[in-house]
Amino acid sequence: MIDLRSDTLTVPTAGMRAAMAQAPVGDDVYAEDPSVNALQYRVAALFGKEAGLMTTTGSLSNLLGIYCLVNPGEEIICDMQAHIARAELGAHAALHGVTMRTWESSDGVVDADAVERLIAPDAGSHLVSTKAVEIENTHNFGGGTIQPYENLVRISDLCRGVGVKLHLDGARIWNAHVATGVPLADYGKLFDTISVCFSKGLGAPIGSMLLSSAENIAKARAQRKRLGGGWRQAGVLAAAADYALTHQLVRLADDHDAAAAFAAQVAAVVPEALDASKVQTNIVVVNTGGKLASSVTGAAKERGVLLSQVGRRTVRAVTHLGVTAQEGLQAGKVVAEVLQS
Ligand SMILES: *Cc1c(COP(=O)(O)O)cnc(C)c1O
Repeated sequence: MIDLRSDTLTVPTAGMRAAMAQAPVGDDVYAEDPSVNALQYRVAALFGKEAGLMTTTGSLSNLLGIYCLVNPGEEIICDMQAHIARAELGAHAALHGVTMRTWESSDGVVDADAVERLIAPDAGSHLVSTKAVEIENTHNFGGGTIQPYENLVRISDLCRGVGVKLHLDGARIWNAHVATGVPLADYGKLFDTISVCFSKGLGAPIGSMLLSSAENIAKARAQRKRLGGGWRQAGVLAAAADYALTHQLVRLADDHDAAAAFAAQVAAVVPEALDASKVQTNIVVVNTGGKLASSVTGAAKERGVLLSQVGRRTVRAVTHLGVTAQEGLQAGKVVAEVLQS
């Protein structure tokens, strides 16, 4: 099977397992795990932030980041296809009383004017006030799209000008960084809180991190414990993430090449299924046209390719370190055949 359902399906490499086995560990609820502390220090420095807090998942680091910025009964605004709006089961509302309004976009790429139209910093006593804006980079359901840096600068300036905070869902910021060459610190300086994942293309088995000021991280640490997310000898996981940053970051470019090869293969046969020139990183969203997404994933599976369904008539293919360039091409042929049949 060529498994393109997600880049979360990667398993630890031999080198990563060795690093995990050797990791020095301690009790992280006491902030005494040396491997966790070193990773938090390393990643905070990469983004130019004061502090970091390692978490089990990106959903938890998003939850804690937004918790630091938005009080109950206040809102965060984001893209209508944002992971925080669609794929976190309403956690921000269910647990922290945060409401959301969303803007529309093309392929998830944020338009500063759309943010400006929606933002309501001081809405008075009978409308909800906007306390934060959230941006996803790369944009998952948008098809792994990269937010143009100048758009981010405009939005950051807009937010600072009106006293609204800015959160980055950077689950795949690594892919944007590798594809564009924009330094991580240049992303870091635009945002108040940043969530990153080690468990996607980087290939760690578990782990994400929230990055922010020391004050916000202290607040997030207490809330993480309250939610049951305090953990003990988590250093084995921090060692995996540390190994991934050292050895498996630059190779994300290979995933981007494999996604491009997959997309070109599909588009050559079924041009209306996708625009291959829009594929920027490791995610390809394929329009299934007259076919239901579920029938396409089913038929592809019978031919040895696993895809995920993201809409009624859209499926998603994600390349990662468990998929070779050759397999990417092969999968493209299979999907083209399925769409044509
Ligand atoms: C995967 C992902 C997350 C976090 O997911 P978890 O499964 O909770 O780790 C957050 N945002 C985006 C855009 C993602 O793709």
